[in-house]
Amino acid sequence: MTSAEATAHYFKKAARIMDVGERIETLLAAPLREVKVQVSIELDNGEIRTFNGYRVQHDNARGPMKGGLRYHPQVDADEVLSLASLMTWKTAVVNLPYGGAKGGITVDPTVLSTKELERLTRKFVDQIQDIIGPTRDIPAPDVNTNPQVMAWIMDQYSKYHGHSPAVVTGKPIDLYGSRGREAATGRGLLYVAREIARDVGLPVKGTRFAIQGFGNVGSHAARLIHEDGGMIVAVSDANGGVRNPKGLDVPALFDHARKTGSVKGFNGGNPCGNEELLTSDCDVLIPAALGGVLTKSVAAEVRAKIVLEGANAPCTPEADEVFEKRGVLVVPDILANAGGVTVSYFEWVQNLQHVTWDEDRVNTELEKLMREAYERVANISRTRKLPLRTSAYVLAIGRVGKATVLRGI
Ligand code: NAD
Repeated sequence: MTSAEATAHYFKKAARIMDVGERIETLLAAPLREVKVQVSIELDNGEIRTFNGYRVQHDNARGPMKGGLRYHPQVDADEVLSLASLMTWKTAVVNLPYGGAKGGITVDPTVLSTKELERLTRKFVDQIQDIIGPTRDIPAPDVNTNPQVMAWIMDQYSKYHGHSPAVVTGKPIDLYGSRGREAATGRGLLYVAREIARDVGLPVKGTRFAIQGFGNVGSHAARLIHEDGGMIVAVSDANGGVRNPKGLDVPALFDHARKTGSVKGFNGGNPCGNEELLTSDCDVLIPAALGGVLTKSVAAEVRAKIVLEGANAPCTPEADEVFEKRGVLVVPDILANAGGVTVSYFEWVQNLQHVTWDEDRVNTELEKLMREAYERVANISRTRKLPLRTSAYVLAIGRVGKATVLRGI
């Protein structure tokens, strides 16, 4: 199953349970627009290189479309489409006035210089500036893109359309970014973990967490869960991992990662491969790297009681079924990792109103929205006896479907 087929599978499953009807199902399934562009740049050595860039706009019934930009060698049209539709459902689960989109460039940014990365980003904006915008489609960071990339996007877009900070979120604090945005996805994971803890009687304090990925999402989740009393027993990144059943010294791990660029080789534990991490002895597993890592066979070996999806689409539908049969609680991406887009929304609101919120306000509002979303999804799960993923889709499809009908077909 491709990524887009997997997302369509979850959508269809929930749509059939809700009996939304063929007309609405057809309308919600197809994306509004799929754009592919060739991004040619001059490398520092004078060579010309061309990269494929994508922006898929899935649905705008509830507002301007919103979704990250990924720079990765595996980016393709199918993956971007799948991630764009996830954004439609995610923004609806947390009740933000947005639709869903996603974009990316097929590139390994680690082999480009900063200047090359800047040229690539600006050229990409040249090619999509007429379809994005503060009231149309608002990009944000995703894998391998960061506040600096967002700053270049804002600057390049503003050359065409005038000063437009609200065209993109996840910007640096010194350039219209929001306090709390960088840690928001990890913080959202913590808030959801706290809610789950109440429901299943597994308080964060003393619970053992394993985290795959130590980038924006994984590292902030590790730090905040550690500060909340949780035990981080294993972490990994693209280079390798480390585990310690007694709990890793998280501040020392951060020092090591800052110095070496990876968690690999940290001497406060034993080395741990990426697959080993997924099946390591823990209570909560947080996949926070790439999609599709939890396959059917890996799912059968997972020892965690709860899978908290920090990454987008880390479980294949086959793995999801295995988890359901085994009684492993899966908290779906469209709920668990919605903290990032929620604070992106706060950033956009601040930009449009020319105001600045302090970090306490951002975190308080984030907690409120994450808690409300969790309660709504958990309530559907309880009353209709559905898994959390299907329940989240039921909530989202209901909201997007209503907006679609009210606006008129
Ligand atoms: P990032 O680029 O900051 O970090 C990615 C991390 O994954 C890095 O530590 C990298 O080394 C690691 N990684 C890459 N390949 C790996 C592999 N094969 N095995 C183990 N680790 C690997 O990206 P991010 O922003 O943290 O995003 C991670 C995931 O979370 C993605 O699925 C993304 O779509 C999702 N997500 C991100 C945000 C956000 O606000 N950044 C919001 C919601 C969801």
